[in-house]
Amino acid sequence: MNEFNDSTTSAARAASVGLGDHGLNKNYSSQEGVDISEQVPEASRVQKIAMLIAVIGPFLGCIVAIAICWQYGFMGWQYLAMVIAGWALTTLGITVGFHRLLAHKSFETYRWVKATLMMLGALSVEGAPLVWCAVHRRHHGHSDQEGDPHSPNLAGHGFKGMIKGLWHGQIGWLFSGYWSKPNFEKYIPDLTKDRLLRWIDKNYYLFVILSLVGPAALGYAIEAYLGVRNPWYGAGLGFLWGGLVRIFLTHHVTWSINSVCHVFGKRHFRSGDHSTNNAVCAMLSMGEGWHNNHHAFPSSARHGLFWYQFDMSWIVIRTMQMVGLAWDVKLPSKRALEARRIH
Ligand SMILES: [Zn+2]
Ligand SMILES: [Zn+2]
Repeated sequence: MNEFNDSTTSAARAASVGLGDHGLNKNYSSQEGVDISEQVPEASRVQKIAMLIAVIGPFLGCIVAIAICWQYGFMGWQYLAMVIAGWALTTLGITVGFHRLLAHKSFETYRWVKATLMMLGALSVEGAPLVWCAVHRRHHGHSDQEGDPHSPNLAGHGFKGMIKGLWHGQIGWLFSGYWSKPNFEKYIPDLTKDRLLRWIDKNYYLFVILSLVGPAALGYAIEAYLGVRNPWYGAGLGFLWGGLVRIFLTHHVTWSINSVCHVFGKRHFRSGDHSTNNAVCAMLSMGEGWHNNHHAFPSSARHGLFWYQFDMSWIVIRTMQMVGLAWDVKLPSKRALEARRIH
């Protein structure tokens, strides 16, 4: 395995997240003042409305799905399976694909595996891979400091400041220019050359449509096959459960890493920010909740660094490695771990 020591210098840590020579937690300001290229423009009205639909739509879908259940009883195992399988596959697209493979380059794989992971990630409706990675690398570059797109720790002190911060980290930041106008040139110059990624970015709306229409078509097909219910009723249930409910769950679990995992939990390593290890978030997010470990060692393919920290995404990467689908898998050395450990 490819062991590295990414705890030595801030430059090494920044390089490990693909940020060139800039250090983690360094403000991107020139000596004369603010770096103009880092001033984030306001999101346009159209972008804000689109984001509002993306946030409210799945939430309303959950309410309707639960109301139908309440009124007509359990919707059927096939729809529960759609939620679980859809959540697992698209979440792995994000955690193994967008995050550990693309944003942090923590392992290498074949092009077709990468393409599959990118498409699965896009189906989670969390943005196209290029946008996702640009925003995420910015987060690592400014973690819990001015310029962090979604830090929950910059909204003031006390209980009110904490609630305001958590809201911003979970949802509020989505309406800022950090999301709608990410700085590709600065954060992802290594990724913008990739034709596949550019294609997904340009045709991202197709994945959003497929993410909703796919489960509806599946629901229609299942009910038509079973012949008990009207197939169109199945299409509606597929759309609600396999589409909106699944998207709602994936969204909020991912966003809770931005909010909860910078406020609640344990800190095992010095990371220069407030990131925490949160077991509940880790279970729900396939290992991403070991977020303090991740900030301390951004390039590590494994986030659950202790034996008791269950990390499903790492199990997937390790399995891929064992069957020859992943290589150059990066892990921190014992010395690096010890150097940052909080005792
Ligand atoms: Zn973080
Ligand atoms: Zn990261």
